[in-house]
Amino acid sequence: MVSDAQAQRSIRLVIFGRQGAGKGTQAVELAKHYSIPHISTGDMLRAAVRDGTEFGLKAKEIMDRGELVSDDVMLGMVAERLSLPDAANGWILDGFPRTTQQAEDLRSLLGDAGIDLAIDLNVPEDVVVKRIASRRVCEKCGTNYAAPDINIPTVPCTVEGCGGQAVQRADDTEEAVRKRLALYESQTAPLLDWYHGQGLLVIVDGVGAPTEVQAELVGVIDAAV
Ligand code: AMP
Repeated sequence: MVSDAQAQRSIRLVIFGRQGAGKGTQAVELAKHYSIPHISTGDMLRAAVRDGTEFGLKAKEIMDRGELVSDDVMLGMVAERLSLPDAANGWILDGFPRTTQQAEDLRSLLGDAGIDLAIDLNVPEDVVVKRIASRRVCEKCGTNYAAPDINIPTVPCTVEGCGGQAVQRADDTEEAVRKRLALYESQTAPLLDWYHGQGLLVIVDGVGAPTEVQAELVGVIDAAV
């Protein structure tokens, strides 16, 4: 149950985390907990790609190259999303800002209100590499599994009636993952410094059971907002 106080409280959060840190899962749970929308710019861009719009086609080329969509396009997209009625009482932004320019744009967009908190869901690089390198995805139904050892190539899918085999995604090898993480590091470290400089950054330990991490996040947010 959401209390009246929670329902009326406006909560504006930005969440950062390495790939494999559980950021998406935690952001979805936080959105439910505080009854605010989870706004993922990656999801929005993928939706545009699926819709096959002209913008989606351009975005796909950029995403496939592993590059970033331009700051002004992203700001337009985010500004439009934040102006929708469901975002009136707050939101959790995931994937934006991605550059210091975007952080400054967001600050200008929000004016005095600003954001309440920037959360860095911290899971050390070696832990996420192991998590991702152990990930096996069923070829038939898409269910995710954790292989007991990173050298085990396939895991039988246990979904009733599926009968598929869970295999490693081409971009989940240790080498590919380390490359993506290096990119994340170079893009995000300056942003974390930027929010730290504003007194808005909080680092939450993302290692541990998802329910424990969630409780820690809620505690930190409740104390700050
Ligand atoms: P994500 O799901 O957050 O990893 O985003 C997937 C891809 O979408 C990224 O690799 C970028 O190409 C693009 N993207 C998502 N958010 C942004 C952003 N804030 N600025 C620029 N490009 C973005």
